[in-house]
Amino acid sequence: MDVPGLVLPSPLQELADERLTTAGVRLVLKRDDLIHPDLPGNKWRKLKYTLVAAREAGAARLLTFGGAYSNHLRAVAAAGALFGFETVGVVRGEPHDPLNPSLQYAVDHGMRLTYLDRETYRRKADPHVLDTLRAEFDDPFVVPEGGSDIPAVRGCAELVAEIDEPFDVICCPVGTGGTLAGIAAGLEEVAPGARAVGFAALKGAGFLSDDVARLQTAALGHTTGNWSIELDFHFGGYAKRNADLDAFLDEFDSRHGLRLDWVYVGKMLAGLFAQIADNAYPPGTTIVAMVTGPDFETATVQTRS
Ligand SMILES: *Cc1c(COP(=O)(O)O)cnc(C)c1O
Repeated sequence: MDVPGLVLPSPLQELADERLTTAGVRLVLKRDDLIHPDLPGNKWRKLKYTLVAAREAGAARLLTFGGAYSNHLRAVAAAGALFGFETVGVVRGEPHDPLNPSLQYAVDHGMRLTYLDRETYRRKADPHVLDTLRAEFDDPFVVPEGGSDIPAVRGCAELVAEIDEPFDVICCPVGTGGTLAGIAAGLEEVAPGARAVGFAALKGAGFLSDDVARLQTAALGHTTGNWSIELDFHFGGYAKRNADLDAFLDEFDSRHGLRLDWVYVGKMLAGLFAQIADNAYPPGTTIVAMVTGPDFETATVQTRS
């Protein structure tokens, strides 16, 4: 897939921060947020091989699923515009009128939106629900919610080989787990001594370990034993925020001149700095933290019922 303007490998940026010096650890950001203005971060990595497959299948149209603030819907809309696919976004819940900025972005990039009530949305993978959508939208190429599928694992695995210096730990945020599954798979291949730590962006996310294991089994035929998921840094739940998180984000911005996406990346780094302050990583540890996406303006809209 040849995409004009794609910045790969994404840059590495070591942070100078006395909180790190005190603990004797190094922290290097991998700036996947800079990969592409319309296809940033893990969304490009996750979609790449799906787009290849859709093209090979001769698909005219992609259909996928997401919540009203989904970065995945945005990315699929942008990918469709760039690669010449029509796109359909199946949105969870009530129709939005007016559209929020995220859905407006999707529509501006040519996506047709359709809505499923929450109960039906939960059953979106059922053959009956899927067949109805397939018939309505003329046999589209279906991409799962969050894009976490076998091609996504492969696409995310590739990022590990881009890191051209030794490291011990690589951290990423976890939403559906495809990114973590892929990174851990990549470690197994090219950095066997290192481990991956995911930070769940949602509350009560114990189920994510099963999801990651299932994805790895589907993609690799086995699970890699080199990853774990931290569950205590959700700051209230998915797309919720609190004063502790906001204070961290403001301080991070003033120290490093980088406004973090608060839904995912900010929570991971807040969690990581808390762990570092707790001496969770021995002196001498080098940690790579994935900046999996930018701070979309939309991500700062306070939401969720
Ligand atoms: C979608 C997204 C994630 C979650 O990735 P998963 O593979 O679903 O775990 C993390 N960070 C950002 C910025 C995202 O947009």
